[in-house]
Amino acid sequence: MAQSLSCPEQKFTAGERYLDFEVTKVTSLPDIRQTAYEILHLPTGAKVLHLHNNDPENLYAICFRTPPEDSTGLPHILEHSVLAGSEKYPLKDVFNELHRGSLQTFINAFTYPDKTIYPVASQVRQDFFNLARVYTDLVLRPRLLRETFAQEGHHFEFSVPDDVHSELVISGIVYNEMKGAYSSPDSLMYKAIQENLYPDTVYRNDSGGAPDAIPTLTYDHFLAFHRAYYSPSNARFFLYGDIATRDCLDFLQEMLSGFAAVVVESRIESQKRWTAPQAVTGYYPIGPDEDPKAKTAVNLAWMLADNLDYATVILLEIVAWALVGSAAGPLRKALVDSGLGEDLSPVTGLEKDLRQLAFVVGLRGTQADRAAAIESLVLETLSRLVETGFERDLIEGALHQVEFQGKEIHRGVYPYGITLMGRVFHTWLYDGDPLAGLNFPAIIDDIRRRWEQEPALFQHVLRQWFLDNQHRLLSIMEPSATYQKEQEAKYSESIRTTVAELTPADREAIAEKALILKRFQTEPDPPEAAKTLPIIAIQDLSPEVDVIPSQAETRSGVTILSHDLFTNDIAYLHLAFDIAHIPDVLQSYLPLLCKFMTGLGAGELSYDELSKQIALKTGGIGIHLTSGYGFGGRQTWQKMIVHIRMLYRNIPAAMDILSDILFRGKLSETARMKDLVFEGRNDLQAAVVPSGHIFAKRTAAASLTLPAYREEQWHGRNQLKFINGLAESWGEDLKDFTGKMADLKALIIRKDKLIVNLTADAAGLRLLADAMDPVLAELSDDRFAICETSIPALSNRTGVMIPAQVSYVAEAFPAPTYGSDLAAPLFVLSRLLSNGYLYKKIRVEGGAYGGMCQYDTTGGVFSFLSYRDPHLERTLSVYAEALRFAEKGAIPHEEIQKAIIGSIGALDRPMDPVSRGFASMIRYFSGLNDEERKKFRLAVLSMDDKALSGEALEYLVRVKDKAAVAVYAEGEKMHTANMVLQPPLQIETLT
Ligand SMILES: [Zn+2]
Repeated sequence: MAQSLSCPEQKFTAGERYLDFEVTKVTSLPDIRQTAYEILHLPTGAKVLHLHNNDPENLYAICFRTPPEDSTGLPHILEHSVLAGSEKYPLKDVFNELHRGSLQTFINAFTYPDKTIYPVASQVRQDFFNLARVYTDLVLRPRLLRETFAQEGHHFEFSVPDDVHSELVISGIVYNEMKGAYSSPDSLMYKAIQENLYPDTVYRNDSGGAPDAIPTLTYDHFLAFHRAYYSPSNARFFLYGDIATRDCLDFLQEMLSGFAAVVVESRIESQKRWTAPQAVTGYYPIGPDEDPKAKTAVNLAWMLADNLDYATVILLEIVAWALVGSAAGPLRKALVDSGLGEDLSPVTGLEKDLRQLAFVVGLRGTQADRAAAIESLVLETLSRLVETGFERDLIEGALHQVEFQGKEIHRGVYPYGITLMGRVFHTWLYDGDPLAGLNFPAIIDDIRRRWEQEPALFQHVLRQWFLDNQHRLLSIMEPSATYQKEQEAKYSESIRTTVAELTPADREAIAEKALILKRFQTEPDPPEAAKTLPIIAIQDLSPEVDVIPSQAETRSGVTILSHDLFTNDIAYLHLAFDIAHIPDVLQSYLPLLCKFMTGLGAGELSYDELSKQIALKTGGIGIHLTSGYGFGGRQTWQKMIVHIRMLYRNIPAAMDILSDILFRGKLSETARMKDLVFEGRNDLQAAVVPSGHIFAKRTAAASLTLPAYREEQWHGRNQLKFINGLAESWGEDLKDFTGKMADLKALIIRKDKLIVNLTADAAGLRLLADAMDPVLAELSDDRFAICETSIPALSNRTGVMIPAQVSYVAEAFPAPTYGSDLAAPLFVLSRLLSNGYLYKKIRVEGGAYGGMCQYDTTGGVFSFLSYRDPHLERTLSVYAEALRFAEKGAIPHEEIQKAIIGSIGALDRPMDPVSRGFASMIRYFSGLNDEERKKFRLAVLSMDDKALSGEALEYLVRVKDKAAVAVYAEGEKMHTANMVLQPPLQIETLT
């Protein structure tokens, strides 16, 4: 990550020529540590933007404008298919080879409603250019084989593979991926709004693909789309990182040689503004026995300004945040307090990834007949705000959040370069200034100036873009217990005529094609093809581990860990309270306690005032629960971690907020509690279908270890059952409930076993440690009683019914933790199976969107997972075969080498400063020191074939009878599977 504030010196001047390029503009952005070069490739007209900085995690992305002509998912299927292989790299799945055998820190591809982006990132220069070189060749010169199209897009399959008389079904990876997406209420809700708010533009189509339209896509059409849009003349190349601009251009010169300019018509047209509001009703699936009462969502959506009008866009961002961005947002508050629905709709907020922005707000957990009331409430609230204006603190809070985000060195799951890339494309894609949305500090200054000159600035924005704007859509999404069946019928109907007209010869031809596809999928790539890919050698990998600076001291009887890191004037604080002594019956209440502590009022402040202060003085406060094993699996730890981030100048104010939350929380505000309970329930429920594999893993693993059992209790189906029960019977015994919460909090917020973790530079650490003193002094000195916990007996063959068109299948094994000699071989094995055997059998051959393997070295669980899977029993047999496949000692040496490189890549995943501080604290809980980490890394680097196919697999085979299975799927599918499964699944409802 970037280690200083300066931005690199300018190495080119505007107007300068270099090779085939002309540098058109050079801009220094010291506040965000970037020097930006806008460059044109003269022979093709390709546009290049390089953000030069001192971040060693370099990022390269190729973007094409790809307006979809229909909902066959053409852009999406093409996105999957180009990455399969090119003439120069004639393998069947180059993407997977790069993914598993490189030091990539990010490799992916994204289909948006109007563009397709191919990004790769790495911290190692040679690896970075290898990846960028191969990626460029793949997108510009792909092979696009017929087999790839069939595999990724769609093809016919006999439901009994060798029987030409059996039923014909459609399969394909994108097809199944989209069936999963079309089972998620949240995606259906968003889709209905996008398609109906922009009905005269390409946004009326689904670039991802509608399952009933995907099978109508032809191979010729697919090839033609690539020819039309994938040329340098329609491309934008985005580069980010510490590699010199000259080196980037040398590389691009080579990549673009041989291409000439072509005319590409890919302009994204604007939607014409309506003169009157519109309404639309849609449906989403619920289980056949589910009660549809209070399950409707009602949203209002406005089409706002064009992304190119950036001055307005940023004002709209501030207004959107002020309206709904915090619990104090007046529009959010009006809706939630109205009792017209359970909680705010999950699609609420500003949508910026389209040419013209949209703002959406609404309620879920409501009834269709309340739509008119919801609409009037929203409009009345907005009118009132136009009259009275926003409270000053709300706007200040929004400005502070923008400032904070601009300042923070942030790398979550995605590299920081990806965050900046997203902002760049909001304007660049439509031929606007690519830097318009980047320079946060300058943007804030500008808004402050305008606001001073025109105090009613935000009222004017509200009037113009909301009240006076007739381009408004009322969208109602109703639950349907028959939706699932109707969709299935629609899919079979769409192929029925085709199937009915098939002659016996046609059926033979389909069987023949299926055979060719199967052969294509199972045959290994020729060795000479595999050699075309540039790969890094194991001896070039560093044996050193990244050491995170860490100091431990005791202050007022509490252990304080501090990490001296450059954080750009932001301080991070974690308070890890022990919760191992909390009795089992109370553990399920903990997630709600976390929510209540920050969501209710505290001290003098009501909940909305508290939320305003949090936005004004901090970058956010969060509380979460986590647990794991100590080193060598000897004991477990369980923690509630309070996390707060703030600018140095706000440390004292943030500490006041923190003490209010810890010591003076209002655990008696029952009306607000109710809202939080329903919101918690609805969020968790909505997460099940999109993350079905994670839920299945939690359910399977819960019977194996205490940390996994807690995970299910806090974040999985057990929590959903618990919170659902609470929501259903809300109000029955509130006194008992609030009493329990207060007792629970008193049991946790104590000095005993508390670990404080600080991350900042030396000056920040001093400020933070001093400001902590009053907080520590107020903590209770009471000691805990030790509580023994054991896991209750749970089913280890569970089937959970969900309304989804695809399945999620998990099998979990108890596994050793860090400190065991088996940990390193199991770690490499999990990658080998994930990107090798399971990927091939479950995704490539099985047609599921994902098949993978995970090994949790702190939690002690090894698991097999499938995602958006058309199969169920077949997947379980694949898992069983996975254990046998390596037994034969048949893993090719090169496969193991790739798994080692990929494992090192995973160990070296870059982290932002706060994540490094956090990781160091977790290692402290787990008793994992740098020497042991180094030992582990050396064991990975020197892994021999025997350790994998021998020890690691033998271990899994040995514990196979202790493994647990959980499936999340539609009920009927599981009943059918149970006719052959031995032992059968114990089928249960979700809640
Ligand atoms: Zn996809």
